[in-house]
Amino acid sequence: MDLGIKGKRALVCASSKGLGRGCAEALAEAGVDLVLNARGVEALEATAADLRARFGVSVTAVAADITSDEGRTQVLDAAGPVDILVTNAGGPPPGMWTDWQRADFIKALDANMLTPIALMQALLPAMMERGWGRVVNITSQAVKAPLGVLGLSNAARTGLTGFVAGTARQVAASGVTINNLLPGTHATDRADALDGAVAAKEGITLEAARARRFAAIPAGRYGTASEFGAACAFLCSQHAGFMVGQNVLLDGGAVNTTL
Ligand code: NAP
Repeated sequence: MDLGIKGKRALVCASSKGLGRGCAEALAEAGVDLVLNARGVEALEATAADLRARFGVSVTAVAADITSDEGRTQVLDAAGPVDILVTNAGGPPPGMWTDWQRADFIKALDANMLTPIALMQALLPAMMERGWGRVVNITSQAVKAPLGVLGLSNAARTGLTGFVAGTARQVAASGVTINNLLPGTHATDRADALDGAVAAKEGITLEAARARRFAAIPAGRYGTASEFGAACAFLCSQHAGFMVGQNVLLDGGAVNTTL
């Protein structure tokens, strides 16, 4: 399918690896020029070089912490006006509700709620002026089905979801859509880290921790970054112009609900 976005320009945050990289790859395949971001220079430059070589699109790489004011300024200055924004950042660590202090909540809110909101506030006005734009926020299955140990993530991402629900409807008439993609478990470093934490806590092997999680997913496996990226590229396409303020779950059926 021609996504109709060849020649558009996208900022994909936290995109040297994992789901962000999956989104960047799918957009590059659709002919979109990219601004990529991550903190670590090495993996970021390697991803940028790979996408340039494989898809012939222009790729600017900005090594910065997207959750800090300085990092965001650096990324936004390098990006300039973009047609497509994919927000993403690392997720908060797992833990126990009894242990989290105010500082832990502020850190999670900064990374997974206030950062995407600041990026939208910076980039939406120019998209609206030009009469076309796409925003996809990478959130989490936790918005629909909370995991107790990820309480910091549950809290921050639900806050972002509330902001998007209202804002998406305020900007839709300008040809700008905002939607959220909700990953269930995907095979990335993040999933490895969470499996590793379960294995260590329960004294079982990584394979045993993983097999248990596979069993809880009707698809019987983890999702892949390329499947996730393809869904993101569709939400950024010309064809998705009537999808506004939706929360699209990619979870292999793990959340057991009718709607
Ligand atoms: P990942 O494989 O660990 O990749 C994270 C990417 O983000 C890396 O490129 C990393 O590079 C970059 N990054 C992390 N923190 C950053 C920051 N502060 N500023 C800029 N770049 C940053 O993670 P993932 O699995 O793709 O997860 C992406 C998001 O989806 C996370 O918020 C995660 O919680 C959420 N999620 C994932 C799953 C899953 O199963 N994978 C499920 C639900 C939700 P650097 O480290 O070099 O910065």
